[in-house]
Amino acid sequence: MALKDYSDSDDAQADGQRVFNEFDCPDCNANNPYDDGFVDGDEIRCYYCGAEYKVRVVDGKLRLKMI
Ligand SMILES: [Zn+2]
Repeated sequence: MALKDYSDSDDAQADGQRVFNEFDCPDCNANNPYDDGFVDGDEIRCYYCGAEYKVRVVDGKLRLKMI
């Protein structure tokens, strides 16, 4: 029996942490795709208006706090 190697780690969800790949800017409503993904505690920036936000994930939902 061959063991499959599952070590490839694209968008690894360590600790069951949810990884988000896009967000809607609270300020200008632009949809920002984030190919690298972001998780709770990250800081993200709107590509359109330049606003920066601190990412908080509460009960699996995204909350953005302007920095
Ligand atoms: Zn924006």
